Amino acid sequence: MKELRFENITVDNVTIPLFAQKKIELSVLRIDKLHDTVSGNKWFKLRYYISEAVEQQKKQIITFGGAYSNHIVATAAACRISRLVCTGIIRGEEPTSLSPTLLQSKELGMQLVFISREDYAVKKLPDLLNDKDHYIINEGGYGRTGAKGAASITDHFTPADYSHICCAVGTGTMMAGLLNALPGQEVIGISTMKNNFQLEDAVRQLLNELKRPVRLFHDYHFGGYAKYKPELLSFMNELYKTTGIPSDFVYTGKLFYAINDLVAKDFFPPGSKLLLIHSGGLQGNRSLSKDTLIF
Ligand SMILES: *Cc1c(COP(=O)(O)O)cnc(C)c1O
Repeated sequence: MKELRFENITVDNVTIPLFAQKKIELSVLRIDKLHDTVSGNKWFKLRYYISEAVEQQKKQIITFGGAYSNHIVATAAACRISRLVCTGIIRGEEPTSLSPTLLQSKELGMQLVFISREDYAVKKLPDLLNDKDHYIINEGGYGRTGAKGAASITDHFTPADYSHICCAVGTGTMMAGLLNALPGQEVIGISTMKNNFQLEDAVRQLLNELKRPVRLFHDYHFGGYAKYKPELLSFMNELYKTTGIPSDFVYTGKLFYAINDLVAKDFFPPGSKLLLIHSGGLQGNRSLSKDTLIF
């Protein structure tokens, strides 16, 4: 298990002809380079949950996720680093062969418990986990403690250098953390799910300043969560060719695609300085068939 490498986090200034033509400056915060498994925003969201569990001397961490969840494998890795016992409650029947994500989580020491989709929907804990000595982290790390951790992503760049901070959104925890930490910037979120219109509310629940506008785009899901179309994959390959930046098809690929499209449509005024959060998630690309991506 490798160490977390904060010194690897960089702000990359990126040149894309379309952006230059529209007089938009683009930088990318590479928190994906923090670690190959606890990738990007997941460690930030987990940090205060983990320290709280340690303080409260909890015997184990329990969290929830699907078979390809970045959050599950990040929790497994973070618990390993902090020497905490952890259990992942996984949605659906146990498959005959585990996904790469679950295999790795197991190798990192996470106990996997599979529950039916019905039980998962209500987050019902299996009987064997019903003693009280555990610490539960919500699916995706959603919550105020997660947002507080995500707010510390802003320690890795100079906010005043940017007009807009853009991120991919799942549960909304990272976006809420960014909004809380960045009173002077516009924060733009790209939803990775289809018609998830309760997301504004989910973000708002975690805000310190309730009047803050929550600016979300819902049109860049490519069919739904973890769904994609050839157009997205070829965009990701093209992005890699022009900038050297790898992206994932669930989150950051959709983020880059959306921002590129919004720039083309003149959403951002000339002179805008954009910072895109590269929140990681590259491990998820392992579920694509080989040769689809050039990186
Ligand atoms: C989980 C994840 C997100 C979404 O974060 P939320 O706080 O759930 O909105 C974005 N990008 C990547 C790479 C992720 O793994």
